[in-house]
Amino acid sequence: MTSTTPTPELTSRPAELPGLLTHYIGGERVPSLGGETFPVLDPVTNEPYTVCAAGQAADIDRAVEAARRAFTEGPWPKLKPRERSRILYRIAEGIEAADERLAELEAYDTGLPITQARGQAHRAAENFRFFADVIVSGAEEAFQVGEEQYNHVIRKPIGVAGLITPWNTPFMLESWKLAPALASGCTLVLKPAEWSPLSASLLPEIMEKAGVPAGVFNIVHGIGEEAGAALVDHPQVPLISFTGETTTGRIIAENSAKHLKTLSMELGGKSPCVVFADADLDAAVDAAVFQIFSLNGERCTAGSRLLVERPVYDEVVARVAERARNVRIGLPGDPRTELGALIHPEHYARVREYVEIGSAEGARLVAGGTRPEGLPEGNFLDATVFADVKPAHRIFQEEIFGPVLCITPFDTDEEAVELANDTAYGLAAYIWTNNLDRANTLSREIESGMLWINSQNVRDLRTPFGGVKASGIGREGGRHSIDFYTESHIVHVALRTLPVPRFGAGPAE
Ligand code: NAD
Repeated sequence: MTSTTPTPELTSRPAELPGLLTHYIGGERVPSLGGETFPVLDPVTNEPYTVCAAGQAADIDRAVEAARRAFTEGPWPKLKPRERSRILYRIAEGIEAADERLAELEAYDTGLPITQARGQAHRAAENFRFFADVIVSGAEEAFQVGEEQYNHVIRKPIGVAGLITPWNTPFMLESWKLAPALASGCTLVLKPAEWSPLSASLLPEIMEKAGVPAGVFNIVHGIGEEAGAALVDHPQVPLISFTGETTTGRIIAENSAKHLKTLSMELGGKSPCVVFADADLDAAVDAAVFQIFSLNGERCTAGSRLLVERPVYDEVVARVAERARNVRIGLPGDPRTELGALIHPEHYARVREYVEIGSAEGARLVAGGTRPEGLPEGNFLDATVFADVKPAHRIFQEEIFGPVLCITPFDTDEEAVELANDTAYGLAAYIWTNNLDRANTLSREIESGMLWINSQNVRDLRTPFGGVKASGIGREGGRHSIDFYTESHIVHVALRTLPVPRFGAGPAE
């Protein structure tokens, strides 16, 4: 473990932090109607640094009303795709212009290392550019029935979209929903995660400057069980796009059922990274370490279970453990930091509890597991590696969502598949081998929404994103996102006068 010593410049708060993070409703920055707020903590000190408006059902009503009006009376859903696309491009430019500020706020609010927070701004801008392009290049389906009939599908924006997002890489994940919802012509209410509300405060100005009409884009902050639940329960919100924990997803699905809402659920993961003895071990070790310790391990697609073929098991365990001990843990604002502070003391306590559980279950702790030296406060944990983890262990089965890697040996391809599939989750998977036949076979047998062969998680925005089993419902990405935010409306057109059966036209009996 290497830790950096806090220096005053790196611990100081960003300039001009708002004293109150407000909602954004109908183009206005407003507090909660009842004045409710909640404190927001900085993960380096766990001291509250500001307060945020805590939205209640009445605030959600107000935001949905504004979005509803913008949808039914405003220009947004009726704009030509090219017109919306131009505005989305301007949003991307606005995000890139705010790049440094955004990275600074994100690092401060979430504990993400500043260098990785910078990457998030770029990815968020790309999400807007990408969906700006998708919306102008899409085609609709048409079906001809001989010379008699012509049927075509019109994709209509569904209405007011409810977007509920988590605290890990919050701005980027917000953009992943905002961009396709706006591109599709929906208006929306975004409910950001309560542990990381700060970066969303940049959005209103970016949207206004880009020319998004008032009421199209609304934010209501708040606690999940209050603001989030009210959004899910609102009858004028026909669609919920949710990213977060599987347990929360289940609650949202139950609460949506009575309204029969369209749902997209991007949920938790416990993704396997399977390394065979014939793999390029240098690249596999690099990827294994990067995949679990980047973004503080708070990454849904993290390869949190490393499955290693027996002949190279000891070598891989030793190499990964050594690399973990050298991961630079430090203050989020320090550009040398590779692993920053976990988001919140509650989450930190939960991750540390898993470290205790792992040791108590008999897994072998080969790196980390403790608070780094020189960082006596805040939510810092050494990059942690357990070896000899068994499928029955809770740390093998449950999502930890922190910098904790579990390593397990296997002997055969069949056992590798069995272990890979032996959890409730199925978000991502990674296979490292130089045997293409084996890679192709395993890629079909492993239960995951997404799988990478000889690669870390490199996203292609055109491909569908999502998980199977407890990791999600539905797919977003490319056309899949546009399909989700639009309803297909089928129009059947007779091309000539068609015979119609004539009921009631026969002789009276
Ligand atoms: P969470 O489920 O605690 O919260 C997510 C959001 O849901 C927050 O905005 C929260 O306020 C809201 N919420 C909570 N209870 C609610 C309720 N009853 N009704 C409506 N909204 C409610 O998740 P989190 O801890 O913020 O995020 C971490 C989780 O997200 C991890 O499990 C991670 O794997 C998952 N995640 C998945 C993906 C993916 O694409 N599959 C991406 C990122 C994160």
